Amino acid sequence: MTDQSEAWPPGEILAAYDWQDGACFRCRDGARSVAHIATVTAPGGASVRLLMCGSCILREEELRLSRAIATGATYVPGRIGRSPDS
Ligand SMILES: [Zn+2]
Repeated sequence: MTDQSEAWPPGEILAAYDWQDGACFRCRDGARSVAHIATVTAPGGASVRLLMCGSCILREEELRLSRAIATGATYVPGRIGRSPDS
């Protein structure tokens, strides 16, 4: 079995997302490049777009990678907010 952690440099992981200007919902750091992760419905029915910055995405992808290695699953970057197990 190949070491999956060697297979994905940060640049390639980040390239799996579409980038725009905005504020990260996790670290609240505004005015930087963020990727649209998901759209959730807030209490009251309004749609809220979840945007995440590169640092937070890489942290989250790292967790997903460790989880994939631990469970023997195949890790695919670019799926934060899209996979049913997140
Ligand atoms: Zn962030």
